[in-house]
Amino acid sequence: MGKPVYISVILPLKLEWEPSYSLPEGMSPEAVCVGKRVKVRFANRLYSGVVTAVGIVPDTDTAKIRPVESVEDGLESIYPEEIELWRRVADYYLCTVGEVYKAAYPLGKVNLEEAHAASVARAAARREKLLDSMRQKISRIEDRLRRKQELIAGSRDGTKAKAKYIEEAVRIQKELETAIEALIEAEKGTDATASDPQAADAMKVILSPAQQQAYRNIKDGFKKKKPVLLHGITGSGKTEIYIKAAMEAVSKGGNVLYLVPEIALSRQLEERLYSHFGDRLSVFHSAESAVSRRNVAETVRCGEGYVVLGTRSSLFLPHHGLKLIIVDEEHDGSYKQDSPAPRYNGRDTALMLAMIHGSDIILGSATPSLEELYNCECGRHTLVELKERYHGTEDSEVEIIDTKAERRKRGMVGNFSRKLISHIEKALSDGGQVMILRSRRSWAPALQCDSCGEIPKCPHCNVSLSRHMSGGDRLLCHYCGTSVPYTGSCARCGGELKALGAGTQKIEEEAQALFPQARVARLDSDTAQNKSYEARTIKAFADGEIDILIGTQMVTKGFDFGNLSLVAVIAADAFLGIQDFRADEKSIQVMEQFRGRCGRRERKGLFVIQTSQPEHPVYRRIIAGDGGCFNRSLLEERKDFDFPPYTRMIEISVRGFREDVVAEKAGVLAGCLAKTADVTGPYAPAVDKVAGQFIRAIRLSLRKDRQLYIRKDEIRRIVNEFEKSSGRDCHITVNVDPS
Ligand code: ADP
Ligand code: ZN
Repeated sequence: MGKPVYISVILPLKLEWEPSYSLPEGMSPEAVCVGKRVKVRFANRLYSGVVTAVGIVPDTDTAKIRPVESVEDGLESIYPEEIELWRRVADYYLCTVGEVYKAAYPLGKVNLEEAHAASVARAAARREKLLDSMRQKISRIEDRLRRKQELIAGSRDGTKAKAKYIEEAVRIQKELETAIEALIEAEKGTDATASDPQAADAMKVILSPAQQQAYRNIKDGFKKKKPVLLHGITGSGKTEIYIKAAMEAVSKGGNVLYLVPEIALSRQLEERLYSHFGDRLSVFHSAESAVSRRNVAETVRCGEGYVVLGTRSSLFLPHHGLKLIIVDEEHDGSYKQDSPAPRYNGRDTALMLAMIHGSDIILGSATPSLEELYNCECGRHTLVELKERYHGTEDSEVEIIDTKAERRKRGMVGNFSRKLISHIEKALSDGGQVMILRSRRSWAPALQCDSCGEIPKCPHCNVSLSRHMSGGDRLLCHYCGTSVPYTGSCARCGGELKALGAGTQKIEEEAQALFPQARVARLDSDTAQNKSYEARTIKAFADGEIDILIGTQMVTKGFDFGNLSLVAVIAADAFLGIQDFRADEKSIQVMEQFRGRCGRRERKGLFVIQTSQPEHPVYRRIIAGDGGCFNRSLLEERKDFDFPPYTRMIEISVRGFREDVVAEKAGVLAGCLAKTADVTGPYAPAVDKVAGQFIRAIRLSLRKDRQLYIRKDEIRRIVNEFEKSSGRDCHITVNVDPS
């Protein structure tokens, strides 16, 4: 009998250590190299673990070490780079490697034949869609060329404007020729266009001079081995630059990861990218079927020269040969996962991934996060700016409407000011489209009794119930999902309930009544529950089959709708009121992004803001468009108050069913942490009870110096100790860089 061989294993659990196992007699150590998946027993249950070391000297009593049950031959091995990423994420976000592993490999086994059939069917469907969208694109380019020619004909000889139009017309002509060539190629091939990187030449991206300059600067940044922040105004053509960079990486056999903050955005980009990369493009996000995700993981594991378009979960694919990572809309809060652990930010995790693979990385945005601006300021990242729109359109005009003043003048019809109504009428009669932003979904975000003043609340959460009219008239809690039928009368006194404010459903109703001829639709997380409805609505709006689209923040993100000429935000104050040190930064980002959705082609757009606080600095900044200055002053403020990005913030929340216990425990924990960090709290957050559990929050602020890692370790230790001692009374979550 030889000496037993011991291995250590990561389990998909919240475990602070990697347990040891022995190899059973007869199992050769070669069969279980690092990265192999093994079936092991832990606390009397079976798990698929990942081997992280073979031939270790265990630090526990060897008599208690169990043997491995079996090697999971049906499961793929894990690359060392993946394990490295898990470790970095666990370190940074103060969670366990097991929790990251669990997030990275949530699926069971998938039937392979089914997976193959699904991928063939999908390829055929895509090809049809592609040809269709290419034809549409050509007709749009023809329209643009015609308009330019009209402008040329209309302008006098020798004017500067005329020369500019001619220059632009030449460019559009070239674009048209390339698009037609590509269509011919695509129609010929039985296979998708760009399956072969050489054929991709047909879909060459022709950059404008400003884009070329930015592209050169990006490459300079890559040469310096630094991440690049591409700060390009909306409509400047950042996407085309990403495509160009991706094509270059792919043509050299490298792989590309293209990250977007949300699934809805990936849908619009999918077509655009597919026309360049064909079957070399894979799409990966949680709404894809398990089969299709399995297919993508397979491609990624073995392929060369592919592009993965995905949300943050695609960071954990088995990447190899990763040459380029693109983080689109870098500032977007949706990159952050709030629950469950790992509570990671996709942008920052992408930076870790790039470091591990030595890949180039571009982070792009029209409204960069202060974190990124700070990184550029410190010289850690390279800043590349693109200040010119591709179609040369000027910034959309901004009009601020003071709803308080309008109300006094009887200038309001429901939630629409007469001014806004006439702008919408004009936009529609000019053949344009309109988008309206309202931050709250529902018909009425809250209700109040007319006689006793009671506001109906959720029985389980400390929040008011909102009234929803679709799917039956009911009162709904947005936190725990509790739903009760709407009776119209107060539960306490029987008085009549009146709406407090209007949500997207009410706005939709009013819009339909005000503009009976218009085709009105709504997009918020209620309607988008149905993923195909969401995709169809975005497509229908892009194709001009909807005139007015009403929605929540969802509609503000990176979409490219050529015919959108008016965007309006109703009750903009909702963005300002948030008790959060990032409130100003976020509201500016939302509004700038929204503004950037219109006026993307030749036509100049209009952005209308309805607010009761027209003098707020956020609006002043939007009108002035002095991005630089305002960011500067926001950064100064953050510095003065020791807020991120100048410090590292960690938010700890303590939850439990007994309020007194939660409050007491949180107080003790805060006391323990005070030696290691600057502590704020414990305090009751804005919503301090959810699904029957009371919540107390503690905010830690850590200086970013050499001791940071040591202090984070100390925090980890204190929290772990505390969790152990408090048992089932309360539950603790740790959130590093809360958004
Ligand atoms: P951004 O991502 O910066 O908001 P986009 O990349 O979506 O901007 O570009 C805005 C519009 O300009 C799109 O309709 C896009 O097709 C067009 N565009 C930008 N650059 C080019 C280019 N080099 N060739 C052809 N069209 C371009
Ligand atoms: Zn509730």
